[in-house]
Amino acid sequence: MTQPAEITPRRVSIFGSTGSIGRNTLNVISHLGGREAFQVLAVTGKGNTDLLARQAMECGAQIAVTADETRYGDLKQALSGSGIEVAAGKAALIEAAERDTDWFMAGIVGMAGLAPTLAAARCGADIALANKECLVSAGELFHREIAHGGGRLLPVDSEHNAIHQIFDRSQPHSIERIILTASGGPFRSLDLAEMAAVSPDMAAAHPNWSMGIKISIDSASMFNKALEMIEAMHLFDMRPDQIEVIIHPQSVVHSMVGYSDGSVLAQLGTPDMRTAIGYSLAFPDRPSLPVERLDFARLAQLDFETPDEDRFPSLGLARRAMEAGGLSGAILNGAKEVALEAFIERHIGFLEMADIVASVMDRLGTGGAAVSIEAVYEADNAARLLARELVAARSAKSLVN
Ligand code: NDP
Ligand code: MG
Repeated sequence: MTQPAEITPRRVSIFGSTGSIGRNTLNVISHLGGREAFQVLAVTGKGNTDLLARQAMECGAQIAVTADETRYGDLKQALSGSGIEVAAGKAALIEAAERDTDWFMAGIVGMAGLAPTLAAARCGADIALANKECLVSAGELFHREIAHGGGRLLPVDSEHNAIHQIFDRSQPHSIERIILTASGGPFRSLDLAEMAAVSPDMAAAHPNWSMGIKISIDSASMFNKALEMIEAMHLFDMRPDQIEVIIHPQSVVHSMVGYSDGSVLAQLGTPDMRTAIGYSLAFPDRPSLPVERLDFARLAQLDFETPDEDRFPSLGLARRAMEAGGLSGAILNGAKEVALEAFIERHIGFLEMADIVASVMDRLGTGGAAVSIEAVYEADNAARLLARELVAARSAKSLVN
C-alpha cells in the first residue's frame, strides 16, 4: 500500500497579528488545520506585546517582532525560554518580511504597513492585502514589486475581495464598472449640523463590522470608501469613471461588477472578515469556514441609496486624486491620517477632517510622479507636515474663540 505523501505545511507570516485582521487571520488558520497545515514564520505587532507573545507561542511562530523598539525588553521577557526569535523596530519588520514565506498577511494599519509589504512582495510571497495604503499611496510601485517577485495579489478588504470573486479576468474588456458598496456608517442619516458635533467614540461605533478604531472612524467619514475607490482603481486597472459607490446599509452585498451585456454580478455574505481572509489563504480553492450563513428568509430587505457628497466630501476628494494621478493618493492619505489622529485626540471636529485634506490637496497638487518609494514618502511627509500646521492653526483659533 502506498503511504500518503507527507504534506508540507504552507509557510505564512502575519503582519499586524495583534490587530482585528491579524486576530481573525490566526482564527482562520487554526480552523483550517493550525500547525498541521501551516508553518507560521512571523507574527508582528506594536504596543500589544503581551498578546503578541501569546500568539507567537500558540501558533509556534519562528519570530515575533514589535514595531516599537522600546517594547523589545517586554517581548523578550515574555518569550524567554520559548525558542522563538524576538526583534523590534522598523528594520526588523522588513527583515522578517523578507524571510521566505508563501503567504503574507498585510494587516498593519496605515503607512507603516507599506515598507514590510513591499519587501514581502519583492521576495515573491502571495500578498493577502488588508492594508489599503500600499495601493492608495504607492499603487504602481506596489504592482512593480509584485511583478518582480512573481507572487499573487489577493485582496482582503471585503469589497475588493468580493470583486476579486466576481471579476472575470478572462474578459476584462467586458467589464464596464465596479460598484463598491458602503454601509454609510453610523452617521448615514445625520444632517451636517449634527455631524459637526459627533465625538470620536460615536464615530468609532460601526453598525455592522467589528474593526480597528481608525478604519471604523474612516467608515463614518467615508474616507474608508475614498481609499477603497483608489484601491479598486489600482487593483483592477479601471479608469476613475468606472468606479461607483452605492450606500447599502445592511452590508450584505459586499460589492458588484457590471458587465457590457447589462449583467451585474454581486458577492453576498454575512459581514465577517474571515470569509475574505480564508478566500485569500485557500485561493483558488474554497475553504470551509465557521461563519454565519446568510438566511434569505430572515433578511427583510436590501436597501441601496446614492451617497450625499455634500455630507461625505471624502468621496469627491478620492475622485480628484484618482483623476490627478501621480502622488495624489499619497497626499490624500497622509493628510487624512493626520486629520484622523487630530479628530481622535479632539483637536478638530469630525467635518474638519475633510476640510484639512482638501486644503492639503489644493496646496500640494499631484506632488509629481510616483517613480520611487522615496518620492512616495516625500509626498506623504509633505502632506503630513502641512496637515499638522492646519490642525494647529484650527486648534489655536478654537482656543481664541
Ligand atoms: P487594528 O488597529 O486592529 O490593528 C493594527 C495592527 O497594526 C496591530 O497589529 C498593531 O499593533 C499594528 N500596528 C499599529 N501601528 C503600527 C506601526 N506603526 N508599525 C507596525 N505595526 C503597527 O487594525 P485593523 O486590523 O482593523 O486593520 C488593519 C489594516 O487592514 C488597516 O489598514 C485597515 O484599513 C485594513 N482593513 C481592516 C478591516 C477590518 O475588518 N478590520 C477590513 C478591511 C481592511 P498593536 O495593536 O500591537 O499596537
Ligand atoms: Mg472595506
